[in-house]
Amino acid sequence: MQHHISQLNEAQQQPVLHKDGPMIIIAGAGSGKTRVLTIRIAYLMSLGVDAFNILALTFTNKAAREMKKRISDIVGSTEAKNLWMGTFHSVFARILRAEADKLGYPSNFTIYDTQDSVRLISAIIKEMQLDKDIYKPKQVFGRISSYKNSLITVKAYFNDPELQEADAMSKKPRIGEIYQNYVDRCFKAGAMDFDDLLLKTNELLNRFPDVLLKYQNRFKYILVDEYQDTNHSQYLIVRALSDRFQNICVVGDDAQSIYAFRGANINNILNFQKDYEGVKTYRLEQNYRSSKNIVEAANSIIDKNKVKLDKIVWTANDDGPPIKVHRSMTDGEEGRFVASTIFENKMQKQLMNNSFAILYRTNAQSRAMEDALRKRDIPYRIYGGLSFYQRKEIKDVLCYLRLVLNPKDEEALVRVINYPARAIGNTTIEKLTIAANHYKRSMFEVMQNIEKIDLKLNAGTKNKITDFVTMIRSFQVLNETHDAFFMADHVTKKTGLVQELKKDATPEGIARIENIEELLNGMKDFIEGQKEIDGARGSLAEFMEDVALATDLDNDPGDDDRVALMTIHLAKGLEFPYVFIVGMEEDLFPSAMSMSTRSELEEERRLFYVALTRAEHQAYLTYAQSRYRWGKLSDSEPSRFIDEIDGQYLEYLTPEESNYRYRPMIDIDIFGDVDKSKLRQAKPISSAPPKYITDNQPKPESPIRRLKPLSSPKSPSAAEMDLSVGNIVMHERFGKGEVVSLEGAGADKKAEIRFDVGGIKKLLLRFAKLDII
Ligand code: ATP
Ligand code: MG
Repeated sequence: MQHHISQLNEAQQQPVLHKDGPMIIIAGAGSGKTRVLTIRIAYLMSLGVDAFNILALTFTNKAAREMKKRISDIVGSTEAKNLWMGTFHSVFARILRAEADKLGYPSNFTIYDTQDSVRLISAIIKEMQLDKDIYKPKQVFGRISSYKNSLITVKAYFNDPELQEADAMSKKPRIGEIYQNYVDRCFKAGAMDFDDLLLKTNELLNRFPDVLLKYQNRFKYILVDEYQDTNHSQYLIVRALSDRFQNICVVGDDAQSIYAFRGANINNILNFQKDYEGVKTYRLEQNYRSSKNIVEAANSIIDKNKVKLDKIVWTANDDGPPIKVHRSMTDGEEGRFVASTIFENKMQKQLMNNSFAILYRTNAQSRAMEDALRKRDIPYRIYGGLSFYQRKEIKDVLCYLRLVLNPKDEEALVRVINYPARAIGNTTIEKLTIAANHYKRSMFEVMQNIEKIDLKLNAGTKNKITDFVTMIRSFQVLNETHDAFFMADHVTKKTGLVQELKKDATPEGIARIENIEELLNGMKDFIEGQKEIDGARGSLAEFMEDVALATDLDNDPGDDDRVALMTIHLAKGLEFPYVFIVGMEEDLFPSAMSMSTRSELEEERRLFYVALTRAEHQAYLTYAQSRYRWGKLSDSEPSRFIDEIDGQYLEYLTPEESNYRYRPMIDIDIFGDVDKSKLRQAKPISSAPPKYITDNQPKPESPIRRLKPLSSPKSPSAAEMDLSVGNIVMHERFGKGEVVSLEGAGADKKAEIRFDVGGIKKLLLRFAKLDII
């Protein structure tokens, strides 16, 4: 143990060795917060604290697994096995299962994912005959979610005229009723959504003092990573559980608080000292992760925020290369730049694929990156987005399995009752839903009693329903004695799912079957892993519990060598030698939806700080001058965040770059003239005047290093050029494209070129205004 502690610096050792009582570590990115938390757990165990009495809450299950592994390496795996570690959701789902009966839930309750929740809300909106253009299901779900995370139950909602008024003002006076129906339907289906896992835990701890005492005694030491992103509901759980022993250790960085949109409350970290008595505060200042350029550039960004705690972050690491900024014409070109840069770096420096990460603001941006990586044969993995478990064919299998465990699960039932087709049509399903609501029973119970209830169904339909019930029942019997793999294999065959998919011989159809095979492989692995755990047998229930909470990030096998693609939100806490932050454009990052208030803009800026501080060695910022958004090509300006970085840390790869910088203060009159006095104030970094007035003037010498000019100053005629298939070319009018074929010779030589915008065009090279780039 001593050895591990001695590897830490003095400031890190203090919080590791902290005696009992509340403590907080506030420190910037890469300063070793997570590492200190990990070593502290091992240290507590070395002092004789029972693993059983320690609870560690992390941001992802992956982080928890990694932490557990490190601790196992220090204290041994038998000791570490009993540690409770995981996300709030996974830890409290486990506790809720153990205590479910107290809240009137079955212990095998289903966890609805966002898809299930939104579908159910849309069904409710339809049943209430509301306009779905006003009551947009996703928006309504967001609203309900924020109520739950603020612990506003349906009852509390109806007791609060202000909330009702706010909804009425936004032309949605019936949100309360939808909320009520949604909660009732979830309860009837024996289902909790993600927010319920926290809300119900609060309910459990509030209503049952004996339960609270039990878990207070159990979790004598509680440690929370990324505390700055806890929401009110999570905050209250931590407070309640730590109230007795007050051995609470939280670590976080207010500058990395990026989940306000989901209800995270930065005040939880800012007020920690007030919430607990005798808090000891520790600060770490040395960054071990990133080069000096990156650390200092990140400091210069976060400096622009008004709301922050004063912190120092410095590093003893090398300067490292400057942050590289690249402009491209289109998002397609941006993707190609990223892919070719990865390719070159890999080749020149013999790097692994997993040295690289591509981070973006929105999931939609991954497509252009994926296309480019695929063309270069660079393996990649997309994290988040539509997770493996949300793909249609996988979700179909999982819904059957959910029904086996909890036949009341209405979302699962509606999804598979007629898939593969078994002639139970929509009208029948509607009748079943109405009857279920009427009798206040689950749909499955109505189906079990179909002979006794008069739903005016014909004998054939009734038989189909009975067959379905019998099939699910037979699965339940098997499930008592068989493991998850057997069940999934059996279910996919018996329900006719696999046969159905086999009918589709297209590549997509084959891919779907492969995905199901992948699911089965995953189950095999899972069962193997469960053998290590005491009392586990690899049952379906164990597997489904794992899956319900898995995000794609958690699903990372970790050892495979791929470029990582993910949103910045998901990248929190991670690190990579090379990081590309793409789509650095106004309205995209900062997002158009987050620029109306200072606090929103500050959150975007913190997000940028998080993104940049993921990089160890080299960061790239890229942007495109136009990109497809919502199906339309639109022009974009570089992000103000590029301007906000102190220019000494940047290197522009595209020379004209400085001409396009974000300059909100410049006034241009209709003749294109520029008020030069304003110009001087407006550009703190570059002295180059804007392009529109410099085209006919000599360009001032750019202070930046140039790698490769965008186009050669004088083009030869395209016919004389040594053009070959695969060349990337720039056309005066059509922009960027790739040569796909060549034909003819001399004056007749033609090229087929696939342009980023406008598709394939055949050009007579004699006339074509082309440059190879
Ligand atoms: P973030 O705010 O991004 O979550 P963090 O503060 O949690 O960052 P860590 O991830 O714990 O920082 O540490 C950053 C990197 O620095 C890790 O690779 C870690 O192993 C390394 N590191 C931390 N402390 C030391 C140390 N004393 N000596 C050497 N390396 C260290
Ligand atoms: Mg960390």
